[in-house]
Amino acid sequence: MGHLAGQRITVIGAGIGGLTAAIALARRGAEVTILERAPELTEIGAGIQLSPNGMRVIDALGLGQAVRAASLPSLGVELNDQWARPVIRLNFRARRPDADFRVIHRARLIECLASAAGQAGITLKLGQPTSAPPAEGLVIGADGLHSPTRQALNGREVPFFTGHTAWRAVIPDDGTGPTTARLYMAPGRHLVSYRLAHGLRNIVAVLECRDWQDEGWSQPGNPQAMRSAFAALKGPVPDWLARVETAHLWGLFRHDVARIWQDGRVALVGDAAHPTLPFLAQGGVMAIEDAWTIAACLDADPDPATALARYQALRDPRCRRIVEAANANAANYHLSGARRLIGHNALRTIGRLAPNLMPSRFDWLYDHDPTAETP
Ligand SMILES: Cc1cc2nc3c(=O)[nH]c(=O)nc-3n(C[C@H](O)[C@H](O)[C@H](O)COP(=O)(O)OP(=O)(O)OC[C@H]3O[C@@H](n4cnc5c(N)ncnc54)[C@H](O)[C@@H]3O)c2cc1C
Repeated sequence: MGHLAGQRITVIGAGIGGLTAAIALARRGAEVTILERAPELTEIGAGIQLSPNGMRVIDALGLGQAVRAASLPSLGVELNDQWARPVIRLNFRARRPDADFRVIHRARLIECLASAAGQAGITLKLGQPTSAPPAEGLVIGADGLHSPTRQALNGREVPFFTGHTAWRAVIPDDGTGPTTARLYMAPGRHLVSYRLAHGLRNIVAVLECRDWQDEGWSQPGNPQAMRSAFAALKGPVPDWLARVETAHLWGLFRHDVARIWQDGRVALVGDAAHPTLPFLAQGGVMAIEDAWTIAACLDADPDPATALARYQALRDPRCRRIVEAANANAANYHLSGARRLIGHNALRTIGRLAPNLMPSRFDWLYDHDPTAETP
């Protein structure tokens, strides 16, 4: 046992980041209490991709079997233009056969994490909105985009609208076997879809938009409006959209990566520290990586202030790089006019002549192993 044994730690927020952090801390002997504002643990009806850098943590925490049973393996990403003509196929699985890309329904992932948290003896207190970090003890703020913990560390900051809205929907799908994330790109919009376990298919459809009128940052979406907004996308897309019965619409807001992640006693993980656009499918995975690293750092050092400074030093550069890469994807997916023609043709040529070149550009992302890092 290291320095976490017997330490009392409060985690604020029971999302992917908070639950994983609580499990990582408890596995090393900490006594963890989670304060979650919601009266029950729920997740929106949508899928999430888990790349190998996150799965390595899931495995190291002993959650691999449960997560695999609830998810599907994914082969990679297939980029298509709006007429469903292939642009490039990024076969991540072929590049690293031992690494595991998975897709899972969010509610199933939260169930796996909550069940492991219960077994690890973590106290989960629901219906506990926390407006500021408790005054004593170690505190981890995993309270998401509108994090009061971030505000306590960094002062008041207002999240900004990124100029993108996202529709999310889940439809029935009777396919079998491994899945692929299929992406269809048109000027100012794209749609990505992959099958989930248990006969479902996830759809995320992103549209550039000048402003977000609604007060809140998510609202029920009108399936007919979703079909109209993405009518330019062909191939299987019209059939998928025809099957949408319920959709949810999100204004995609974010902050810059936090300037201050910790003050020696209170620290941030996940979206509270580094909300990102979803165009690299890494927001949840970064939260999972953070969770491992913060527990490893606190366990390795007797002084929490030194440990949390080390945690920020390890995580900050990597998370900034991921957020920037996701921003770049936003521009690349939505090209129009001559730039689109040139960009797509260049990718087609690269895919034909050097199929490994594009997947290899993500080695820094997917080959990272937080569990092998020296805390
Ligand atoms: C369209 C879309 C697609 C995405 N796809 C992917 C993907 O494929 N792969 C991926 O890795 N990521 C993806 N993401 C990103 C991912 O969803 C987030 O990064 C991730 O959910 C962040 O987890 P978190 O635990 O940090 O925060 P959250 O999920 O926001 O959880 C925060 C928790 O804290 C609670 N809370 C908030 N305030 C308080 C308070 N004051 N007191 C107590 N509790 C509080 C909340 O109720 C919530 O339970 C996607 C995001 C979007 C929008």
